Amino acid sequence: MSPFPRNAYRPLTPYRPDRRPIEVDLSDNTNRWGTHPGALAAVRTADPEELLRYPPVYADRLRAAVAARFGVPLEAVATGCGSDDLLDSAFRAAADPGESIRFIPPTFSMIEIFATMNGLVPRPLDRAAPRSPSAPFGPLPDPGLLLDTEEGTPAIVYLCRPNNPTGEVLPRPWIETLLDQAGPTGPVVLLDEAYADFMEPDEGPDDLLRLAATSDRLVVLRTLSKAFGLAGLRVGFAVGAPEVIREIEKSRGPYKVNRLAEAAAVLALDDREGWIPETLAAARAERTHLARALVERGLAPLPSGANFLLVPTEGIGAGDAASVTAKLREAGVAVRPFPSLPGFGDAVRVTLGPRHETDRFLAALDTLLTPTT
Ligand code: PMP
Repeated sequence: MSPFPRNAYRPLTPYRPDRRPIEVDLSDNTNRWGTHPGALAAVRTADPEELLRYPPVYADRLRAAVAARFGVPLEAVATGCGSDDLLDSAFRAAADPGESIRFIPPTFSMIEIFATMNGLVPRPLDRAAPRSPSAPFGPLPDPGLLLDTEEGTPAIVYLCRPNNPTGEVLPRPWIETLLDQAGPTGPVVLLDEAYADFMEPDEGPDDLLRLAATSDRLVVLRTLSKAFGLAGLRVGFAVGAPEVIREIEKSRGPYKVNRLAEAAAVLALDDREGWIPETLAAARAERTHLARALVERGLAPLPSGANFLLVPTEGIGAGDAASVTAKLREAGVAVRPFPSLPGFGDAVRVTLGPRHETDRFLAALDTLLTPTT
């Protein structure tokens, strides 16, 4: 029996991913190429005098660094303790308890949890929902299906691009159609771009972030946990119209970004020609290499715009997602299992890493593959 009276929390359990030590950890989509060197130097040379003081209330140096990097006004930027913090705050800011949030499963597993934590009703889109015969977006659901449900209009639509765990990149016209159909009074559209840095440059990874700065309904969320290699410092930011951002800051509360995190993040965000583009190029090259190596082994990784590949386990012939993950772990490699994903079945998600880690993963995988003689 729970000692607290909040009934909606009864089904929730604390988040505890498998973090046992392992030789090669490809399970959490952090940056296997390391931590931004300038950011690391900022942490090492921190001024102890500054640490005994509170940090700036809303991390204005960080807001300015985001504004400068993307060419948006400072007032269009909110910061947080990871993008998790901003998702949570944005849920609270955009919806009253009892309202609903729409999303396309499978997607980021924390969404349903943050929804429940904030008294919202998660309403996943039924992937088998009928498409209109003239559907212009092929296998994608009609955007309108996210805006109306039998239960009414949701307060929030959550989208993830590239999507975790599939890696799928929703096309910009699809999102623009959704925004047009939502209109100025429809649901708030939260676009989680935690992995956008890994998209190909010609896919316009920053276009929608810039659009968000002047949009009525669109808010884009980013993190420094992935491409910037700073997951341990917990820094995220959101871009939206200043009046929307003000509401998110109200629900976020003060002092969420600590001084070390802010100093490190400011330096990392200023990097346009050094470590960041170099490691992003390496990750994209590794994505092509690993996808090809998996296809050569008869597997069918999903096309990905992120720093991971989702691999259905059916072709591996070594059991379900949990069993494949356990066997890879025995061989010293951690991946993330995804049992029974809607539309995809069992799969494992593999984070991209430098070539020696890819080689270790492939060697471990080869010990599981059923010979096809
Ligand atoms: N969104 C997505 C899609 C993610 O995969 C993650 C991290 N797993 C986050 C948000 C949260 O990132 P963070 O809180 O580290 O910024």
